[in-house]
Amino acid sequence: MPDMRFLDPNQPQHGAAELLHVLETVYGVRGEIRHLRSERDQAVRVDVEAPGTPARIVLKISNREQAEDIVDLQTAALRHIESADPGLPVPRVIADLEGRDHRSVTFANGDRHAVHALSWQPGAPLAQSGRVPTSAARREIGAAIGRLDRALQGFFHPAAAHEHAWDFAACLRFRELTAVIADGADRLAVESVFERAADKVLPALPALRRQLLHHDANADNVLVAAGAAAAGVTGIIDFGDLTFGALAAEVAIACDGIAGAGETFDGNESFGDTLVAAMYEVAAGYDSAMPLEEADMEILYDLVCLRNAMAAVIAAARRQGFPERDLHPESPAHAIARLHALRAVGRDAFERGLRRACRFPVYCPRLPEDAAALDEEDRLIATRARRMGKHATHFYERPMHFERARGPWLYATDGHAYLDCYNNVPQVGHCHPHVTRAIARQAAALNTNTRYLYSVALEYADRLTAKLAPQLTACLFVNSGSEANDVAWQMARLVTGRQGAIVMEDAYHGVTDVMRRFSPGHPDVALPPFLKGLVVPDPYRGPWRAGEPDLAEKYAADADRAIAELDASGHGTAAFMIDSALCSSGVPSVPDGYLRAVETRVRAAGGLMICDEVQSGFGRMGQWWGHEHHGARADIVTMGKPVGNGHPLGVVVTTQEILNRFIDEVHLFSTFGGNTVACAAGNAVLDVIENEDLIENGRRVGAYLRDELRALASRHALIGDVRGHGMITGVEFVTDRGERTPARTETRRLLELMRRNRVLVGSEGRDANILKLRPCLAFEREHVDRFIAALDRSLAAL
Ligand code: PMP
Repeated sequence: MPDMRFLDPNQPQHGAAELLHVLETVYGVRGEIRHLRSERDQAVRVDVEAPGTPARIVLKISNREQAEDIVDLQTAALRHIESADPGLPVPRVIADLEGRDHRSVTFANGDRHAVHALSWQPGAPLAQSGRVPTSAARREIGAAIGRLDRALQGFFHPAAAHEHAWDFAACLRFRELTAVIADGADRLAVESVFERAADKVLPALPALRRQLLHHDANADNVLVAAGAAAAGVTGIIDFGDLTFGALAAEVAIACDGIAGAGETFDGNESFGDTLVAAMYEVAAGYDSAMPLEEADMEILYDLVCLRNAMAAVIAAARRQGFPERDLHPESPAHAIARLHALRAVGRDAFERGLRRACRFPVYCPRLPEDAAALDEEDRLIATRARRMGKHATHFYERPMHFERARGPWLYATDGHAYLDCYNNVPQVGHCHPHVTRAIARQAAALNTNTRYLYSVALEYADRLTAKLAPQLTACLFVNSGSEANDVAWQMARLVTGRQGAIVMEDAYHGVTDVMRRFSPGHPDVALPPFLKGLVVPDPYRGPWRAGEPDLAEKYAADADRAIAELDASGHGTAAFMIDSALCSSGVPSVPDGYLRAVETRVRAAGGLMICDEVQSGFGRMGQWWGHEHHGARADIVTMGKPVGNGHPLGVVVTTQEILNRFIDEVHLFSTFGGNTVACAAGNAVLDVIENEDLIENGRRVGAYLRDELRALASRHALIGDVRGHGMITGVEFVTDRGERTPARTETRRLLELMRRNRVLVGSEGRDANILKLRPCLAFEREHVDRFIAALDRSLAAL
């Protein structure tokens, strides 16, 4: 039999007369005493006789084995909590006649024990209150425990790292003792928990947030007011198990210790579901006071199981090893029943329930074996069609299911990571922690609109305009690229007094009623008379090809035709709206000087330059703005997509004069446009682009990507053309390089093959034969290598 001495409760059992003597000599108190239940110490309630002192106190005689520095730890912790959060209902330390919080006393039998006294907390232990706590009560209790841990956060004591029988970190010593569990199936269940602890849980513990914890928040140690509808927590008591450990351990212990209160397992099948639902409520309450983290979500199921496995072994071992002691009433059977119930619920369902309760993203398998079941996904697909219409998802035969992402990776519920080369919104990488924190912090401080004065919008407007040409000094905030373009168009008409505009013949500028018309790239959109489309300056496929002289001028001359037509119809030219990346045209290699040549013509006709930077802005093309890449001068710049790295924010930047004329005439106010949280996101995106030197990175890695693509073209004849700047690249696929025949079906199949190779790309162009690559600016060479290898394999498999 292994050494079980550390499990011997061996409580002190001194007689009443001696305790009364200690009370009088050490504390100067007389009264009546009543014994209280305790696992390892001796505790008595004292009804004090003399007036003036507290009417009731608790006298604690620590276990003989208990070193006095541990008692010092406990009383010091209580003093700390009192000063950190005076409102918390925890006992107050009562100093002895010499002003000390504890002292060592020699009893008649020669044993020395540390002794200390605490104030009495009103209420009854939840376990004895006769109540099954309501949901609200469980949340309140969880919150009280979270608040306690908050108060303990800053506490340090040299004895904090002492060994403790219930410490999860030392749980494996119980693995040696599982023979004390008689029933074979029970023993197997317990053993499998220890096995998982050794493999997964213990290695994960050191990375979790750790501090001193109460470590025993169960239904005996949480006191509640009698008869109250809510929990009415009146006390958290028994600091005898204070342990330095992971916050998640505290939550697991509380979930286990509180959730089972008042529920007895009578063999009913719903026991597990009821039990875990109660646990979620305790955890959600805790989370409300002491926010939990992802890592906590991942480990809580294991810790709750482990707590029960430990409880089962400890209870069974004590029964077997120390039958003569007054043992804690909890029997091994309770813990075993809970363990079986937890295992029946299962890790996935538990974690999902917990995540929902604490409002974490619900679902995220890390490994293929944890993948979402296909029938579950079918259910989601059906729900989506019912609730959100037949709206197309991405290009794939079966929609991708993502619930999580980081940097260039999207994590699918099939348990695999997918490299995101489609992107175009999370410019600085998915869920960049600096951006997500800025959003969360601002949302927690103030989330309101531009009817009020607040600094975050002004800081943002200052910073953003400083990145643009000197004449562009004024911002109008909206919520999307479409809105920004819509407003820009209204401004142009107002300022010029003209009614016509020029766009690319397959442009895309948005979804509002007007912007749909500005988007002839859509098959269902025909240009109305007030809009003229320009021939796309595409030297690969357009009427004038690379190598011909005066390419820019030849293409730009089409603007003369458009302007003349707008003049002839009486509309005139109010603006040329241009996406500098020509994304919807498949990122063609626009001839140098083209945009400037069109601009000259538009200005001569009295029109403005509206530069739509929704795709090309924020460093996408290797410098801050796409129109600057082309050497064009903007009157109005519109922004969307990457502005907030995914948080909705659209911006119109223009001159002071244009903005003020517009405001004088049009009383436009966008409720959410430029709200505090959006501006916090915007500022954080600028921070990351600057701090991580992302534009330079995008230039470098983008050039490497195109070099690698061109190298690949030597082996795959399907690659007809590779072009782009910075982090936007187009790859045109043709079935015949001479004829430049668009490889339409091959491209569609390629997208599917790339998906199977776990890389996400999109297609573009009238024939959808152009790969459109817009990885985040934080892309690295290793990601390019992954992409190239996947494309190589996919092309070979076509
Ligand atoms: N302009 C361009 C160039 C775009 O690519 C898009 C979106 N694809 C928009 C405007 C519209 O932006 P949003 O979807 O935010 O309304």
